Amino acid sequence: MKEMVERIVELNVSRLDALKAVDKPKIGWTSIYTPEEILYAAGFIPFRIMGNTASNTSEAGALLGNNYCSYLLNCLGEGMNGVYEFTDGIVFVDECDWRKRLHETWTHQIQPKYSFFLELPKALNPVSRDYFRMQIRRMIESLEQHFGCRITEESLREAIRLFNETRRLLQRMHDLRKQDVTSLTGSELLNIMKSSTAGMRQQYNQELSLLLSAMEAQRETKKTKPHKVLICGSYFDHDNIVDAIEQTGAKVVCMDITNGVKYFEGEVDEHRDPVEAIADYYFDKATCARMFESDIRLNHLIKLIDEYDIDSVIYFSLKFCDIYSMDYPYIQSKLSEKGTPVLLVEGECSMTNIESIRTRIHTFLETMMY
Ligand code: SF4
Repeated sequence: MKEMVERIVELNVSRLDALKAVDKPKIGWTSIYTPEEILYAAGFIPFRIMGNTASNTSEAGALLGNNYCSYLLNCLGEGMNGVYEFTDGIVFVDECDWRKRLHETWTHQIQPKYSFFLELPKALNPVSRDYFRMQIRRMIESLEQHFGCRITEESLREAIRLFNETRRLLQRMHDLRKQDVTSLTGSELLNIMKSSTAGMRQQYNQELSLLLSAMEAQRETKKTKPHKVLICGSYFDHDNIVDAIEQTGAKVVCMDITNGVKYFEGEVDEHRDPVEAIADYYFDKATCARMFESDIRLNHLIKLIDEYDIDSVIYFSLKFCDIYSMDYPYIQSKLSEKGTPVLLVEGECSMTNIESIRTRIHTFLETMMY
């Protein structure tokens, strides 16, 4: 089973080389609100820009400002280092104001072959829904005009089926996690999740399907229930925090983050008009703190806490991410009323403060576990 996990994780580790080697156009994206199905139906390989190869962000900081979250600084740093020269374009989404600046700066400084900015409403109402559907149609027109391609109904339906398959497989993996019958570690779970956005989708689905069959055949019955932790918050890509949690004997069973359930929950309706079904799927992803309604996020989080039988929550916020920092007091007070302890952890992508975070996490968990 270890080898199967390693093969899936490798899809992300070697993604840049693999993408360069494939003779097919590629488009990078930075937000899980990007409708990957549209890009796939247009003939592209969509993949996530992760910002995890940037070693120096001083130029990016000079252009954007050093009070930007390190995820965006890292993404721009990678772009300025030419990491994505092989791509045919980039799609940005209006997820937070800082991403708007990323789009403007990337477009002017790096001048990609193609870029598209998808506007995403913050309010959930019928007018916003219609507006977002219009934005999706605008994206289709833009791709068709720029690349001279045709996005047909048939190609959209094929893309929906493929991406829904990934969603179902990831849900199966999380159902096993819920039942606590696998030996998968939290960082393996996180890395398997990261590979889902690395671009090689057919291979990913095949490998994950094999792993799930093996995991289902070798269900493990645990004698005692571990202390179960849920991680939520802003962009999170930190194996070392997951490891720090699990060093205490606790288990990370669910991650309500963009490298977790936020990415794959639900399915695009395969029986409706494909453009509207895709638009509605992404519009209804209302669990990001950039949307107005905090209670939708809160209720979603409470549902996960109940479903996964969670004992405590680690709320992670990237430094300078105002929208997740501002959401924290409300979420924390409501979870406290429910009796679920929450620890706020603030960090950067580089995690230079991992030792102090480890100490805080251990202290927080040990007071409940021992
Ligand atoms: S982590 Fe926060 S500030 Fe950074 S891109 Fe995401 S929402 Fe915006």
